[in-house]
Amino acid sequence: MRILVVEDEPKIAALVQKGLEREGYVVDTAQDGQSALDMIETYPYDLVVLDIILPKRDGLDVLRTIRRRDQTLPVIILTARSGVDDVGAGLDSGADDYVKKPFSFRELSARIRAVLRRPGERRLPKLAVGPLVLDQASREITLNGVPLALTRKEYGLLEYLMLKHGTTVSREQLLAHMWDERSCTADNALDVHMHAVRTKLGPYAELVETVRGVGYRLKGD
Ligand code: CA
Repeated sequence: MRILVVEDEPKIAALVQKGLEREGYVVDTAQDGQSALDMIETYPYDLVVLDIILPKRDGLDVLRTIRRRDQTLPVIILTARSGVDDVGAGLDSGADDYVKKPFSFRELSARIRAVLRRPGERRLPKLAVGPLVLDQASREITLNGVPLALTRKEYGLLEYLMLKHGTTVSREQLLAHMWDERSCTADNALDVHMHAVRTKLGPYAELVETVRGVGYRLKGD
């Protein structure tokens, strides 16, 4: 899962980024409203954490622009403690939830999980492909009912292949989804992690099929 954190206070942005990365998300940050919109146009985010008071374009403006383009991208807004009006305006503008500043990382993390867990067309609670079952709420994948011991990256790769089951996923898509802008060795890393995923699938390694010159596809139904 890839999350964009839009926050102009570097300390808060760094704290949130570090915390979310520890939980296994891929995280990018943007410092102002305009770069946030540019990044959302460019990268396939699964959720946006959006501060309201931002330079260039404020959070509500950014949120309305997001909603004009995309009705389903989950957005959690960060509001000032006194910003009672912000909460109403934010929810009216299409925010999925809000967290009031100052907040604890734990609270934000719980809200993110809750929003990503919400049933709806964009997220299914459990998804089965052949012998594999993905539970996005607990971030666990089982093989014939036995949980796979995956690292965060391995989980992310297999999760993405399962979510895109039925299609071929290009290397570029996987790289964009799984690695943030700071990584420059990602291309090799993709091969290494994919090899590890196959190893852990054991006799089912062939479920992950290489599509030569394109990327990968998950077999099974
Ligand atoms: Ca701010």
